[in-house]
Amino acid sequence: MYQALYRKYRPLTFSDVSGQETITATLQNAIRSGRISHAYLFCGIRGTGKTTCAKILAKAVNCLNPKDGNPCGECENCKAVSSGATDIMEIDAASNNGVDNIRELREQVGFMPALLKYKVYIIDEVHMLSQSAFNALLKTLEEPPEHIIFILATTEINKLPATIVSRCQRYDFKRIPNEVISDRLMTVADKENINLSQDAARLIASLSDGGLRDAISFLDLCASLSDTVDIKCVQDACGSSDFEDICDIMGCIAAKDSDGIFEITERLYRDGNDMKILLGDILAFLRNMMIIKTTKNPAPLTGLTPQRFEKTRSAADGFSLDYIMYCMQTVSGVTVGQNPKIDAQLTLIKMIYPQSDDSIRSIISRIEKLEEGAVSRPQPAPRQKAEEKPAEKPTGKSDEKPAEIKEGQLTQWQSVINLLKTSNRPLFGVLFGSKAYFKDGRVLIDSPLSSFREMINSNPAAKEALKGAIAKIYGKAYPIGPYKKDGGKAESLGSPDDGDDPLVAFDQLIN
Ligand SMILES: [Zn+2]
Repeated sequence: MYQALYRKYRPLTFSDVSGQETITATLQNAIRSGRISHAYLFCGIRGTGKTTCAKILAKAVNCLNPKDGNPCGECENCKAVSSGATDIMEIDAASNNGVDNIRELREQVGFMPALLKYKVYIIDEVHMLSQSAFNALLKTLEEPPEHIIFILATTEINKLPATIVSRCQRYDFKRIPNEVISDRLMTVADKENINLSQDAARLIASLSDGGLRDAISFLDLCASLSDTVDIKCVQDACGSSDFEDICDIMGCIAAKDSDGIFEITERLYRDGNDMKILLGDILAFLRNMMIIKTTKNPAPLTGLTPQRFEKTRSAADGFSLDYIMYCMQTVSGVTVGQNPKIDAQLTLIKMIYPQSDDSIRSIISRIEKLEEGAVSRPQPAPRQKAEEKPAEKPTGKSDEKPAEIKEGQLTQWQSVINLLKTSNRPLFGVLFGSKAYFKDGRVLIDSPLSSFREMINSNPAAKEALKGAIAKIYGKAYPIGPYKKDGGKAESLGSPDDGDDPLVAFDQLIN
């Protein structure tokens, strides 16, 4: 069976963990000195190594012969943990969040470990527990038996009661720096014989927002789409805007060329580009220009490839710092609504005509322009075009009215996928090129990628995001399942009434 790359390359010792040196050093010290706490709390954004470190810690505390604070991987205890010893319990609080689950856990903690030194409970997404479950857990945390260790992991520390947080030794996992992620990607690609360019590795790193797991999954996806993973391949897979288009738009803004703006945005919209992503990419471009204008050594801060950096730098020549900040404020204040194209065009035109925007920033920008002698009279507004826009008919495929769902292949599936472009890029990436069918009350998904199934099975948030997108287009969060080709007919899952929780069936059917 194909093993997802992020699983295959999951570190087995603290020394192998990328980008969390302070945390791993502290944990290694604790193991070396035998100062082991009974409750750990690992918090931080997804994909930064919380679960990985929890698994290593569970092994290290039980290892008979730890090496420099790392599990040896060879003793009988290490081997038992690797093969799934019963003394190590992983609980996903997202699906076991009730007080009964915790009561059951409290009964179990009274028993000695079957084999190992410590029973370790790893509770993932612990913020999902209900209030009464927290209360029950707190009782256990107050007086944990000697042989018990809790490792709680969460992406949302603010949702945890202070009483729980205060009983744990807390570790904050940082976003992993882009260079660390791209180095790791290059190493993985090298071992897997994937032809990955340095530029593409950097782009994947910058798209992953500090999460190494997402970055490796994304590499996995790109490698399944193309033999050579270059910038073009990554852009195709994630739907990000073409850098050249962004440069052209910035050029139009600097030259006050509204015809150019309409021409480019019309084309991008027609080609299926997401206007929200476009504005996000423009904001990122402006931010990089601001870095170039204000810092001594901007290149590493922008994370851009040398060619892109040079282009951004020459684009920045056409903008003053105040004007860049005005533009940034204009873009970041936009809410893309039911007419994304008009919203995007309005935003860009506002940048060209700050005088029609009466905010303080625009006044500054006007004064500055007057001082430069560049603009002394108001420019004619792009009247014809601006008036045409509101008359445009709604596209119909947008989110006003749910699309009708019918048995057979879903015609609006691409719209579902497009919704994920901004909210969940890795998920969007793995759904790229997929089809979906509706049968017996379920949406059955036919994705050519095994990483899609990996993601849905291992990541409840991804599953919820997908169902959310389905609900937006089809008006209801229909249960999902895999599509099984059987003489071209869509097969439903074994029992149609396991309704909302297709995960088990999903796994069984696929593997
Ligand atoms: Zn060992």
